Amino acid sequence: MIKYLYIGIDDTDSPDGMCTTYLASQIINEFKENGIELMDYPRLIRLNPFARHKTRGNGGVALKILNDSKVSLAKEIVLESVEKLSMFDCDNTNPGVVFYDGEITKEMEDYAFRAIYEFITIDEAEKFGKSVGCEIHKFKKGRGIIGSIAAISLPLSDFTYELLAYRAPENFGTKRQIDYESVYEMDKKTFPDTFENIDYSEGYIAIEPKTPCPVLYGIRSNTPEVLKEAKSIVKVAEPIDDWCIFKTNQHTDMHIQKASKISDMKQFGCYCVCGEVKNKPTIIDGGHMFFYIQDESGEIECGAYEPTKNFRKIVSYLMPGDIIKVYGGIGEQNTFNVEKFQVIKLNEVEYKNPVCKCGKRMTSAGKDKGFKCKKCGNKIESNEKVPEKIHRSLKNSKFYETPVSARRHLSKPLCRF
Ligand code: ATP
Repeated sequence: MIKYLYIGIDDTDSPDGMCTTYLASQIINEFKENGIELMDYPRLIRLNPFARHKTRGNGGVALKILNDSKVSLAKEIVLESVEKLSMFDCDNTNPGVVFYDGEITKEMEDYAFRAIYEFITIDEAEKFGKSVGCEIHKFKKGRGIIGSIAAISLPLSDFTYELLAYRAPENFGTKRQIDYESVYEMDKKTFPDTFENIDYSEGYIAIEPKTPCPVLYGIRSNTPEVLKEAKSIVKVAEPIDDWCIFKTNQHTDMHIQKASKISDMKQFGCYCVCGEVKNKPTIIDGGHMFFYIQDESGEIECGAYEPTKNFRKIVSYLMPGDIIKVYGGIGEQNTFNVEKFQVIKLNEVEYKNPVCKCGKRMTSAGKDKGFKCKKCGNKIESNEKVPEKIHRSLKNSKFYETPVSARRHLSKPLCRF
């Protein structure tokens, strides 16, 4: 039986530079020079979006090679690269590397899902890794082992790809020289096979990182083939030092757990749950919009935050009585941060004061005294408001999502539904 060596690497970068995928691509180049072949695309695995120590997107990387006579050389290359390229000066950078030469077991898969859904401590990860036979290498605190074990273990029933183009080291930290017109052209020609390229509502080029990391741009897709076409369309005015395609769990909604009721959800978890809109969404200082949903088990505040821009306008169309399914995560303030929602059933009836025979809407004549018409003086004794069908801007069954610029790495865009 063919045997493989799985290599997991995480927590090598800092807000000031580096990127674990760049380190991986350097390792892959050295592997190639030494005749060490990858057995699958390198993996970029996004983990718990609420993990406390993440630099940006909480991503770990995994490689799979043959377990043959070159294994010790491969391990040497990996460990030396991590030593050489990690941002050790940053307190929050605590690299971890794992090597594993067995089959990926069910308990390893379960661990990986826990790393997406929950918090795991370094001790817990180390104990678990040792118990399944991982060779563990911790640098400084070695927090990266948490993500490294998950990155090799996660089963990918749904997956996407990302092509990452890297800058020449002398250009790190300088303004990226990307021809934006060509990005629009690439999007026009390759969407929806590629996606998340541009946020049209904000005129925002999403393939370009905003940090000083080595990435020039990243193009996300459903297939690896379209990425090469996309790369050939995007024009840049600086050298591309290297590029690499990763297989990822980005944009799969893998972080979303199904909650059958509101009270089942926990803080720092990501869920989809159904509920009835309790109040009209209102905007507060800072531009964040909030409303409550409720079910028989309780209620929770939902938020569409300022960075979600026009999504707040859509949220503002919700009305009390609407039944919706929200997707998102419960953050710091115990508020459900909405990534998208589906309208299950709109409340299309509003109870209003009756209309007088003269055509004017009547007003209350006082508590329990019926209604009166201010125009013609007509009075009616009944206190019952009358149901009226109301026009709604939202549609039953339809999904509404946050814009590309505010989307989480794991969040599945509607173009992938
Ligand atoms: P990216 O490379 O995309 O920028 P990142 O830099 O945001 O990712 P990392 O540098 O990978 O994030 O740091 C995240 C840290 O959190 C890593 O040490 C990782 O092992 C750890 N981690 C990942 N998942 C969990 C989890 N579920 N619980 C606790 N720690 C986690």
